[in-house]
This record gives sequence, structure tokens and C-alpha cells, in this order.
Amino acid sequence: MVDSKNTVASERVHPCPTCKKPLRRKEGKMGPFWGCSGFPDCRTTLNDLAGKPSTEIDEHYRCPICTRRLVKADKDKGDYWFCSGYSKGCKVTLADHDGIPEAAYRCQKCGHLLVQRKGKNGVFWGCSEYPQCTASHADKDNRPAF
Ligand SMILES: [Zn+2]
Ligand SMILES: [Zn+2]
Ligand SMILES: [Zn+2]
Repeated sequence: MVDSKNTVASERVHPCPTCKKPLRRKEGKMGPFWGCSGFPDCRTTLNDLAGKPSTEIDEHYRCPICTRRLVKADKDKGDYWFCSGYSKGCKVTLADHDGIPEAAYRCQKCGHLLVQRKGKNGVFWGCSEYPQCTASHADKDNRPAF
């Protein structure tokens, strides 16, 4: 039997994918993330997903418009994700679905986000830039029918 008295389960070491030094969980302005303890020599950072560093490049966690990382908003602000490019002018926010940003679809006309709306004739997808962009798509199984 291994004496586990001195090991704390939540302090499991996650090695940096670049230099193998342990990653440290940090609280950043944009929410928790993992940074390399070899900083500043190694500037690797990873998303925090449910308390663990994620090396997966999951499209879900990328801004659908500018491909920057999505960041989960503080709990007291509500369950949603926003684009880490916010200060650079990207105002994308996505609702949270069980810890994952909701699927987002781009307007094929102007490249902004489509938003699910309810109209007289039922659910449809309209452009977030309405009325500047009047693109709209029918709804099929909760996604826009292109
Ligand atoms: Zn590193
Ligand atoms: Zn963005
Ligand atoms: Zn549009």
C-alpha cells in the first residue's frame, strides 16, 4: 500500500505540454487558466476546463468569429461565455450549456453571429447585426438551415 497521507488529490500535477514543468492554476482577469511554472522562459497557457488544464483545441471553446479563446464569465455575472478578444472589439457572448459554450453559427452574409429568435411563424435564425444585416434562416433541429 502506498501511503497517500501526503498527497492531495486536487493538487495533481499537470505537466506543461511544452517543457514538462508543472502547470499552475491561476486566476486571471479573464477567469481561471493554467500557466507554466517555467514562466517567463515558457509562456504556455492552457484553458481551465472543470478545474483541469485542457490541451484540446475544442472548437466549442473558440470564438466563432475571431477564433480567440472563450472565457467563462464570473458566477455572479451569470452562466455565459465571452470572447477573450472583448477588449479588442469582439463582443461575442454565448450562453452556457452544462459548462460548454452553446453552439454558435455565423451569418454567411456578413460573418457575424446568428441568433435564434422567435417570430410570428415560429423559431428562426437572424443576424445579430440586424437591421444592418437582414439575413435570416429557418430553424432545423435547433440549428440554422443553410
Ligand atoms: Zn512550460
Ligand atoms: Zn471573438
Ligand atoms: Zn449578417
